[in-house]
Amino acid sequence: MTHLPTTSLRAHVPTPYVLSLVPALLFSFAAGPAVAQDVNAMSFAEYEPRSMLVVPEHPVERARYPFVDVHTHPNGLMTPEEVDETVRAMDALNMAVMVNLSGRSGERLKQIVANLKGRYPDRFVVFANPSYSGIDEPGWPDRTARQLEEDVAAGAQGLKIFKDLGMYVRDGAGNRVPVNDPRLDPLWTKAGELGIPVLIHTADPGAFWLPYDEHNERWLELTERPNRRRPPEPSWEQLIAEQFNVFRKHPGTTFIAAHLAWLGSDLARLGMLLDELPNVYTEIGAVIYDPGRQPRFAREFFIRYQDRILFGKDVWEPSEYPVYFRVLETADEYFDYYRKRHAFWKLYGLDLPDEVLRKLYYENAHKIIPGIEGPG
Ligand SMILES: [Zn+2]
Repeated sequence: MTHLPTTSLRAHVPTPYVLSLVPALLFSFAAGPAVAQDVNAMSFAEYEPRSMLVVPEHPVERARYPFVDVHTHPNGLMTPEEVDETVRAMDALNMAVMVNLSGRSGERLKQIVANLKGRYPDRFVVFANPSYSGIDEPGWPDRTARQLEEDVAAGAQGLKIFKDLGMYVRDGAGNRVPVNDPRLDPLWTKAGELGIPVLIHTADPGAFWLPYDEHNERWLELTERPNRRRPPEPSWEQLIAEQFNVFRKHPGTTFIAAHLAWLGSDLARLGMLLDELPNVYTEIGAVIYDPGRQPRFAREFFIRYQDRILFGKDVWEPSEYPVYFRVLETADEYFDYYRKRHAFWKLYGLDLPDEVLRKLYYENAHKIIPGIEGPG
């Protein structure tokens, strides 16, 4: 996922209803020209039918409960004015706490903590990120675990692992470092000892590994972003297996598998993994289009695993949050997502019970992230 730095200037959010009237404008901004010169030669990217369906609509501009967004990447060194503006935008959405997953480490982490928590201690949480440089050195595993301890002492409240682990990180000999590389074991153990969660993003949507052809569900995204077409090795299954090996090997450490573990399109499989591994949680960042296209099955899933799912969004764009709220809180039908290359289909609301919403919005985050203030 791309991570937009800093705050958005668009504090005034258009309602999803209004959004639904202007998708062509939005997509032309996101994906190039959207107006077909020749309607017979119109491309898939250009086709933006306006639904004729008239059904009850309940746009939700503000979450029903104060929520913790466990998956954001704001610019941690934004100016004081930008921090103020971010908090104002959070207030408008009813976002109680923003978890910045891009906290880095060492001196930079201290700067980010001071810049965000120094001014709004209750509104920001910062997760640390490890560095893999020097991974071949014998002292690296212990040194990296010690660094995490220092980062937590400096204010970090969790550890975030980016998708580069498993896909791009190489050791000195040029070999891929797998997600379950044993040199990382002391780091996972240390996170457990410190009582902080590890939010880990492994792999990408499975379609990125499938043939790039007319049957690929992410054809549009792979056309607009060709560098997301993945080589066959390591395979998607291999990466996910490595990630779950780590979860199994470290039952004393709490993990949050990002993006519904890329199993939002196979919730039964995700459920089996959650059943097997009580130390694993998940979050819905950047994948609300998956529950939103299977409202009945997803509703059952969210109720059954109500103690294991957290709210996340990933891209900090306040105008997009109402789509999440609408999927989670309403029973609305056939409404628009905001990024066609992720989901060209329409969404439906899950109409989740209040008790489940409260857990998803903040109670689960309060349970596993130490030191969050506020409701719950
Ligand atoms: Zn992210």
